[in-house]
Amino acid sequence: MSELDIAGVVPLSSVDWPDHLVATVFCQGCPWRCPYCQNAAILDTRTPGIVPWADVQELLERRRGLLDGVVFTGGEALRQAAVESAIADVKALGMQVGLHTAGAYPRRLAQVLPDVDWVGLDIKSLPEDYREAAGYEGGTKAWESLAMIVDERRRRVDSASPFTYEVRTTVFPGSPAERHFEELVARIREAGVEDFALQEARAKGTDPIFQAMATHWDMSAWRMRFEEMAACARSAGFSHVEVR
Ligand code: SF4
Repeated sequence: MSELDIAGVVPLSSVDWPDHLVATVFCQGCPWRCPYCQNAAILDTRTPGIVPWADVQELLERRRGLLDGVVFTGGEALRQAAVESAIADVKALGMQVGLHTAGAYPRRLAQVLPDVDWVGLDIKSLPEDYREAAGYEGGTKAWESLAMIVDERRRRVDSASPFTYEVRTTVFPGSPAERHFEELVARIREAGVEDFALQEARAKGTDPIFQAMATHWDMSAWRMRFEEMAACARSAGFSHVEVR
């Protein structure tokens, strides 16, 4: 198996997995192109990694006992086959594994899920809107991944290694997720999701085209619409809702 292409590592993070202190590994490349992506610099799938996995392993050895675990993010954390052995290495060190994914690789997700303790899954839009939302017809795969994590949670609810997740949706004015938010939330809830987060896209640090678009938003109308969506999410029947 080839080496995991890693674009960067944050040795200590308290924000990438709720209530956990982790090292965060940024995997190079993503097949999708969400307009509000904050990691545009690491999306190219042809760019090689700049941090050897062996260096990450050394860091983890040194920080054993200090870190709860490792979060794999990206880019798309599940794009590369080598993430499977990297996850197994982390488990072998006795650490927990968190994963940020947009669900583009459900078969790989199925392979690694038994070794994963927490997933943050982005659901971009209704399945039929993915081309507009993410630049790719990936809706079926993302929603397949969603069903998988809900099942995994149920399967491990009483196990010695419980599994938790958060499903999150990012919105901005006129996005497919915003236009169809009420239906989107209803379908996410129908899929059995208990933990949901509504996120507001931030223009800073994104592609210049998106930043230019954001200068035309009517922010007072947007604030009202965002509060409406937050209220919708809070009343949808989830066990836990975050708005950020
Ligand atoms: S799926 Fe995530 S990493 Fe990929 S383009 Fe969208 S926001 Fe960026």
